[in-house]
Amino acid sequence: MEVKVNKSTVSLVEGDITREEIDGIVNAANSRLAGGGGVDGAIHRAGGPSIMEECRKIGGCPTGKAVITTGGNLNAKYVIHTVGPIYRGGGRNEAELLASAYRESLKLASSKGLKSIAFPSISTGAYGYPLAEAAKIALKTVIDYLKANTNITLVRFVLFGRQAYDEYEKTLKGMI
Ligand code: ADP
Repeated sequence: MEVKVNKSTVSLVEGDITREEIDGIVNAANSRLAGGGGVDGAIHRAGGPSIMEECRKIGGCPTGKAVITTGGNLNAKYVIHTVGPIYRGGGRNEAELLASAYRESLKLASSKGLKSIAFPSISTGAYGYPLAEAAKIALKTVIDYLKANTNITLVRFVLFGRQAYDEYEKTLKGMI
């Protein structure tokens, strides 16, 4: 599914983000940038060791913020590593921290001149964020950003599996 927001496109696809040919892909990292399972493990495996070397030099990233490395062997030029919140029931500012992870990734991409960026569904794997809630926050944050900023022309959500794709599609349809 694809929608136009202001001058940009938001698209939803089901797939593996490590295969994206795009300016930047976003990694759902942990705050030590230490690598892990899920999408983080997949990105480091596909991108090769240079990405981890850059992460080690950066040292870490607080929850809700983002840092950038090159894309190593990936077809993406850059990887933006952001840290979503661990979901602990919703009363610990999780919603704002999740929105911040998307916003800070977009801001960093813009400041580095990236025109196209792909997101996974941040925090909805090991970090346990309920998918329906996370989809709303992800899409609203991206759409609000693109209404106010025109320098990123494509935001693609690469959803891993049918369930995630269907949830994002349902949510996006309800917002337009
Ligand atoms: P978090 O710790 O932020 O929850 P995870 O990597 O555990 O991060 O999960 C985040 C989302 O990324 C989940 O929805 C998971 O299904 C998805 N995911 C895992 N591997 C990939 C991949 N190769 N491409 C895109 N999304 C992926």
